Amino acid sequence: MSNQAHPLVHYYEQRVNDIVALTTTLANYETPTSDKEHVDRLGRYLEDKLKSMGASVERFPREKVGDILLAKWNADRPGKPLMFMMHMDTVWPLGTLANRPVHVEGDRLIGPGTWDMKGSIALVLSAIQGLRNRGEFPDRPVWALFTSDEETGSFHSRELIEQLARQVGLCLVMEFAAPNSGLKTWRKGIAQYAVHVKGLSSHAGNAPEKGINAVVELAHQTLRISDLARMDIGTSVSVTVVHGGTAANVIPAEATASVDVRYLTKAESERIAQALRQLQPVLKGATIEVSQTTAPRPPMERDATMIRNYEQAKAIAARLGFDLPEDGSGGGSDGNITAGIGVPTLDGLGPMGEGAHAAHEQVIISSIPRRTALLDRIIKDWSFE
Ligand SMILES: [Zn+2]
Repeated sequence: MSNQAHPLVHYYEQRVNDIVALTTTLANYETPTSDKEHVDRLGRYLEDKLKSMGASVERFPREKVGDILLAKWNADRPGKPLMFMMHMDTVWPLGTLANRPVHVEGDRLIGPGTWDMKGSIALVLSAIQGLRNRGEFPDRPVWALFTSDEETGSFHSRELIEQLARQVGLCLVMEFAAPNSGLKTWRKGIAQYAVHVKGLSSHAGNAPEKGINAVVELAHQTLRISDLARMDIGTSVSVTVVHGGTAANVIPAEATASVDVRYLTKAESERIAQALRQLQPVLKGATIEVSQTTAPRPPMERDATMIRNYEQAKAIAARLGFDLPEDGSGGGSDGNITAGIGVPTLDGLGPMGEGAHAAHEQVIISSIPRRTALLDRIIKDWSFE
């Protein structure tokens, strides 16, 4: 604990044990995405807590995953809301805690779900509580959204996230901080394709010339597809799975490839989509069909809006006495969804730590006061230009 800390950072330094205890309480609810009953158990705990903190809480029932919660403070006040976005689910199956209980070791809070993202939930609740206790909660609407299936792609929450995001001025995605303590100002988008080649089968010994070899055609296309990558601007195009042929003595009539595409901009995603649609066969008589195998995820682009909002957050951090660098991620978050529909988004606001989805998952306790102070000031001082 430092003597020179900004008074607000100091305020949260004095409460860091409470924030660690709250994170521990939250992490002790095991909440695998697939287990609705257990996620709902945490949902009920949060609902009570949020109400006790002066929020109105709306519940959006879900059949296959946990119900989604939306807490609102100052719902009837003018101005666009700030919306914190958190997920209650974790990647850890029931019973994980029995072998790996949540515990403190020095400056580390270790255990499944602590960093991704029960610690983030604790930060948001603590910042709101801190503002209320000091009588500084601003006269503006503040929302907190708790979803239940982020870890499996937000299929049951995406529509609601989009619908709510369109009503707010800024989405604050509480995914954990980058390794350099920074916010994440970009995340790659993902699209996945299947390339299906049709040729003509024939006996490999008696009449190979009468066949059209779909595997050879796919080999040509695999190289062309790989050449679409532009790693210099963050676009990867990877042929990841190939299948073809039926028997060792038959010219193969069919072959397929899976293609994984990652990109930083919508323009790049469109360039690749168009190039894949326009693939021309090399072998006479072969045909190529390209289809998308999953709903594509838009990139969270480091565009002018992102830079402006990041600069404002960085300035708030500077007033609190610390630097807030920026970084990005090849992996996605719900920030891809909100930024993808053009809603201002900041991501990576959670605590520092390491080991997301790994056995050594942990939060760096000494990062908690600064991050909580940052959220506190964002709630109080954020200005929509
Ligand atoms: Zn995760």
